[in-house]
Amino acid sequence: MPDGAGTDTITRLRRDLAAAYRLIAHWGMDDSIYTHISVRMPDGPEGEKRFLLNPYGLRFDEVTAANLVTIDEAGAVIDDPYGAGVNAAGFTIHSAVHMARHDAVCVLHTHTVAGVALSSVKEGLLPLNQWSAQFFDRIAFHDYEGIALNLEERARIVEDLGEKRVMFLRNHGTLILGRSVAEAVKLALNLERSCKAQVAALGMGLTPVVLSDAVAEHTARQYESAYDKTEEQGAPDPEWDAFLRQLETVAPGYRG
Ligand SMILES: [Zn+2]
Repeated sequence: MPDGAGTDTITRLRRDLAAAYRLIAHWGMDDSIYTHISVRMPDGPEGEKRFLLNPYGLRFDEVTAANLVTIDEAGAVIDDPYGAGVNAAGFTIHSAVHMARHDAVCVLHTHTVAGVALSSVKEGLLPLNQWSAQFFDRIAFHDYEGIALNLEERARIVEDLGEKRVMFLRNHGTLILGRSVAEAVKLALNLERSCKAQVAALGMGLTPVVLSDAVAEHTARQYESAYDKTEEQGAPDPEWDAFLRQLETVAPGYRG
């Protein structure tokens, strides 16, 4: 550890990432032992890249701050307190995004039923409500190429993502980038609610009222302004604080 501040930063990142796994599990957004949430840690003393990932084979509700694995950009293990290694193949997409997008502290990938459903229709997410309006014109798409992620596909994922923070992996799931773990989790929850609400609204067989582009864009900018205040200006994040308090009740072991 370079210094005391660095140690505090890493301690907080480990706690926040463990919290993210527990919250995604608590909300039913996990998929067995699959999908990952990764964190980019500050570079090592020699400039080496370091990331945190869940131990291979653990459910999300078993992840703790202490058992997270430290790996390099290739998924090679640097520190593994639990001893189960990581799913290096599963990290390839995260590594590609982390190496291309230094603004992303956290990369969160899900296979929720609603997220997969929306990733599987041409129209994608419609601006039907406040949750979905925040993502208006802000979602990238990457076409499905099969499970294997070769180097060429990684380059295409990064190219398809561009400067966006949210991507539908077509016929597969969602990918979210956060400037903090908290931001990634909040975006993931709002995207999940957006997807569920669209499935519910369109499933009624009635006529949906789609927000105008102007209102959707205005709403998206309102959300962005609030996120920017927290991420760039250090404003308090009462929602994240509330989620951490919730974990003290439903999953207090996450900090261990
Ligand atoms: Zn996946």
